[in-house]
This record gives sequence, C-alpha cells and structure tokens, in this order.
Amino acid sequence: MNGHRFYLDHNATAPLRPEARAAMIAALDVGGNPSSVHFEGRRARALVETAREQVAALINAKPLEIVFTSGATEANAWVASGGWDTILSSGIEHDSVRGPVAATTARQVALPVATDGVVAVEEIANFALRDASAAGRTLVMLQMANNETGIVQPVAEVAHFCRAHGLAIHTDAVQAAGRLPIDFTNLGVDTLSLSAHKIGGPTGVGVLVIRDGTKLATLLAGGGQERRRRAGTENVIGIAGFGAAAAAARDLADVPRITALRDRLEAGIAQLTPQAMVIGRTGVRLPNTTALAVPGLAAETLVIKLDLAGVAVSAGAACSSGKVGVSHTLAAMNLPADVARSAIRLSLGWNSSPADVTAFLEIWATVARPRALCAAA
Ligand code: PLP
Repeated sequence: MNGHRFYLDHNATAPLRPEARAAMIAALDVGGNPSSVHFEGRRARALVETAREQVAALINAKPLEIVFTSGATEANAWVASGGWDTILSSGIEHDSVRGPVAATTARQVALPVATDGVVAVEEIANFALRDASAAGRTLVMLQMANNETGIVQPVAEVAHFCRAHGLAIHTDAVQAAGRLPIDFTNLGVDTLSLSAHKIGGPTGVGVLVIRDGTKLATLLAGGGQERRRRAGTENVIGIAGFGAAAAAARDLADVPRITALRDRLEAGIAQLTPQAMVIGRTGVRLPNTTALAVPGLAAETLVIKLDLAGVAVSAGAACSSGKVGVSHTLAAMNLPADVARSAIRLSLGWNSSPADVTAFLEIWATVARPRALCAAA
C-alpha cells in the first residue's frame, strides 16, 4: 500500500482535528495559571472558560454544569464512587464504569441485555416498583451508545422513569458525542461523561457534566478549582483543544457523509463476504460504527492482517497463545461464541474519506477468506 495507512478506529481515538491542533498550539504560548489574578492568569482563564462554553454548547448544557477531568474514566469513576447504596448497570458498560462499580460497597444490580444489545429497561421499572423503597440512594448507569457495537440505548426514556421514581441516573455519552444530537438540559440525566479524544480533541481530558443543583461529593479537595468540585490546576492546553473539537463537531454536519461511507462499507462487505454479519444492524446504531463478524475467522488474526496491509481496526475479542477471550459487551449480549470471537470493529469519523472505504474493501477481499486465517479455536 506504499506505506499509506487507512484509519478505521475512531471509536478508540479519533485523529486530532486541525481546529484542536491550532487551539492547542496557540494555548502553548499563553502560559499563566488560570487561578492567578494577573494578566497572564486571566488569559489562561479565558481559554478554559471559552472551552467550557464550547463543550456546554455541544450538548446543550449550562457552562457551570461542566467540570473538566482527566478523561471519561475519571468522570465515570467519580459518579460510581458517590456513596450509593445501590447501583444498577449492565454488562455492556465500558470498563471505566464496570471497574469502579465493582469496587464500590454498593449493592449491585445487574441489568440484563437482549441479543439486540439493548438493556432491559423494564427491569429498571420492576426494580423501582418492587425494591426501590428498600434500596436507599440508588444510581442507574446507562451508556448512551456502545463503543464496540455502536448500539444506542433509550437513555431519555429511562431518565424520565428514573426521575419519576427518585433514582439518580448517569450516562456515559463518550461515543455518542458529535455523532448523535445530545440535549443535556432536556435529557433528564443527573450526570453525563464525555471524552475529548473521541471527537478529535486530545487524549487525557474529559468532562463530567453535573446537572445544576445535583449533589455529588467533591472528587479532589485542594485548590478549589472547578467550583470546588475537582481541584488541580487545569490542563489548559488539553482543555483548549477539547473546546475547539467540540465547536467543530457541534453541528453534526458530517454525519450524513459518514453514514453514507459506513453504508457503502457495509454493502461492499456484504457483497464480498455474504456470510458476514453486522451486529446490531437492524436496531438504532451510531452512524459511524460497524461491528462485523464472520464466523470462522478469528478477530485477532484479522486485525493483525489488516494492520499489516495498512488498515487500522480493532477487535472485540482478544486471542493470545491459542486462548480466545470474548469481549464483555458481546458476552453480555449472549451472542453465539463463534460470532463473538470473530467480531471486529470498524469506526469512521471526521477525516474518513471514500478512499478509506475503497482501500478497506480491496484489502478485505484479500484477507477475509475463511480458512486463510487461524480459525477461532
Ligand atoms: N466510555 C466509553 C464508552 C469509551 O469508549 C471510553 C474510551 O475508551 C471511555 C469511557 C474512557 O474514556 P477516556 O479514554 O477519556 O478515559
């Protein structure tokens, strides 16, 4: 491929948008501590506050509801560790939710997931009507869209219900941002997490959006930054990049183009490999994500072959030393083992082009021949 690379892994990290790069380069020369009262400090503060407004605008939140963090992992963990008596969540949540939930002393209620990848929302209703009075302070954690499959959850519906029954609700909107319209003010959730690097900003910066009036214990006490909720001198450069990426992603202008590319990709794969299946195809999905499974082909081998041919994708399954591990998301959906073991994720974004799709299909035609690869054991 003449050394040319084709990047189809935006759900892992999207390439840095030019707007974010420019904002970060400009911020490098600003200097100053945003908490200082002098001119240099005020200049740094202005960058942080502009970015706060830009991120708030992306999701229709108030700027004062935005708390900058080191990423969505920190934001999710902050909410999970909020001293809940009971937490309801499902097996398709990202590890940054699953890990902190498992580490709490809260009573944990596992929500089942149907094979279409949607959480059984009636279980939340059953819980609220049956057990909520004895459950104490209760939190529901429900992602907006899944990072592996792109399957979208009915967060607004669940949030409405939670509010009516006094349950708190957090949504991890990391993969939905810039791909679906998000209206925090009207969504009804208490808290929401975002990550800059999934929308073309830098890694290592995210936000927890906390509904005005919601009580959540301070994450870090110290210098009192972020309205005394999360201390530490702000990552001014990263925050400036996040703000610029949020502004660029806000109008979702790219979504029809990306959807068309994704549809062309899936049609091409179906033609070349009729036995291929797209997980979650018939449900509500993100416009940029294809979770592709070809039973009989081992995902890990496919990822390596594609990488050697110039294409970056990722695997839902990890196979090493002949041992195949199935992703927790696909396991929670109860997909047949041969489907789960062969699942790879193709994800597009702001700089994806028709050339990426064409190249992928050309390379796919050569690597995706059943039995040409190490079969999933
Ligand atoms: N939540 C989801 C759904 C993700 O895909 C990711 C990224 O891997 C995260 C949370 C963690 O985000 P961060 O890398 O900002 O910690």
